Amino acid sequence: QAEIDPSKKTIVVLGSGWASTSFLKAIDTDHYNVVVVSPRNYFLFTPLLPSCTVGTIDVRSLIEPVRFITRHKSREVRVYEAECTDIDTDTKTITITDNSDVKGENSVSTLAYDYLVIGVGAQNQTFGIKGVEQYGCFLKEVWDAQKIRSKLMDCIETAAFPGQSPEEIDRLLHMVVVGGGPTGVEYAAELHDFLVDDLSSWYPELAGKIKITLVEALLNLLPAFSKQLIEYTESTFKEQNITIHTKTMVKEVREKDIVVQKPDGTPDTIPYGLLVWATGNTTRPLIKNLIARLPETQTIRRGLEVDDWLRLKGTEEIFALGDATATKYAPTAQVAAQQGKYLARLFHQLAMQELLQNEVGLASTDAEKVAKERKLRKVKDIKPFKYSHQGSLCYIGSDKAIADLPFGQGNVSSGGVATYAFWRSAYISNLFSSRNRALVITDWLKKTVLGRDISRE
Ligand code: FAD
Ligand code: NAD
Repeated sequence: QAEIDPSKKTIVVLGSGWASTSFLKAIDTDHYNVVVVSPRNYFLFTPLLPSCTVGTIDVRSLIEPVRFITRHKSREVRVYEAECTDIDTDTKTITITDNSDVKGENSVSTLAYDYLVIGVGAQNQTFGIKGVEQYGCFLKEVWDAQKIRSKLMDCIETAAFPGQSPEEIDRLLHMVVVGGGPTGVEYAAELHDFLVDDLSSWYPELAGKIKITLVEALLNLLPAFSKQLIEYTESTFKEQNITIHTKTMVKEVREKDIVVQKPDGTPDTIPYGLLVWATGNTTRPLIKNLIARLPETQTIRRGLEVDDWLRLKGTEEIFALGDATATKYAPTAQVAAQQGKYLARLFHQLAMQELLQNEVGLASTDAEKVAKERKLRKVKDIKPFKYSHQGSLCYIGSDKAIADLPFGQGNVSSGGVATYAFWRSAYISNLFSSRNRALVITDWLKKTVLGRDISRE
């Protein structure tokens, strides 16, 4: 175990997602003891996760262990695979719990922090709709993608079982996606490709019966994209035989069907074999408890309120970033990653302040003191976080993608096969490591040459 140097302040980092990993990559461990607490011991590149639900990409190609990320730091970083279950702002300690399957004699502990960086993300939104947790599949983590892949193949094999009635075959082969945000759209697109590229040749008698339906409560899909790209996506889905039910709100999920409210307000039921639930984010219990602890300064239920320097309002030593926060920015990887990088710079400046403050006191001449004070003023001037939007991308199937990209003061929208080439290169260059890049490129080649694997793991 790495030694905690008592002369240095300790930063405890919660989470190993986009926000915390970007912070970890950039933090200078010369100045701080750094401890990471996360229930998963790896970073996951979420933008390509929908591709794992049908085997276009292997999940292992998208993950990178936290220890791999921190191994080149000048001082060792402690990593605990555990969940933070409580934050005590009075004693500046957190409780950590090992919630994994294998537990030792001890599975609960406390850690002290000088600074706490909260990057725990968000959890899946269900709006408390009955049956979602029990029957729906989410798409956020590695195990979600694995579960979807396995359940999809199970539905198809069960439909092929002898003696199945035509109605039961139709139900089992009906794949319903709830939520027309980018997660739902990208999943439907990947499923479509799998159906056309692979399932149609492996299951010729069933493939024609496989149906994909996307259910969205609002007027259209992808509300965050420009109007022309929304129309382009909807018409592409139509060509791909993906049924879209907009203005349709899911009210209840049952074992074999969902109850929806149709645009005219009347109820209806839609039978399904596989249900993928992608209706966005909600706050994790840990964050809800922290908000409740700080009622005067934390007033938004959507997430943690931070100032322009990502400091948690109502505290001095806690910083929060990414999906766990409620800011003017969308809950995206882009925002989280930029915040992580920014916060590491802020910590560097805080360390420099402390260093220079000591040096000012030790200066032997007036000139030296003046020079140090000037430097100190400079590092004390910490600029607020500023987000730079690089554009929004979304895969829509059949080797087509859409992109809204900032250009000058405006925006350029593009969609199609060329945009897909751009989508691919953007994600390849953003992948965490060259190892990830090599693995994803290999997966893409493998898929092209050999097709996707249809085994149910
Ligand atoms: P996360 O990345 O979710 O990380 C949270 C971390 O905290 C995880 O390591 C988790 O294990 C850990 N954690 C949870 N609870 C605790 C606890 N109690 N204690 C300690 N640690 C805890 N955004 C884009 O910009 N572009 C995209 O193309 C894109 N595609 C996406 C595709 C999918 C399928 C999904 C689900 C999301 C996508 N996003 C995309 C959104 C993006 O993934 C999130 O905005 C981003 O992950 C947020 O980063 P984060 O670090 O705040 O949270
Ligand atoms: P989202 O919040 O973007 O979309 C959820 C959708 O579900 C909404 O359109 C909502 O109207 C709909 N919905 C909610 N309740 C419903 C109900 N009961 N019945 C039917 N529809 C219902 O969620 P997401 O797609 O998971 O995205 C989450 C975040 O991650 C967003 O910020 C998104 O931009 C980001 N993300 C980005 C990408 C990308 O850039 N390619 C991919 C995935 C996710």
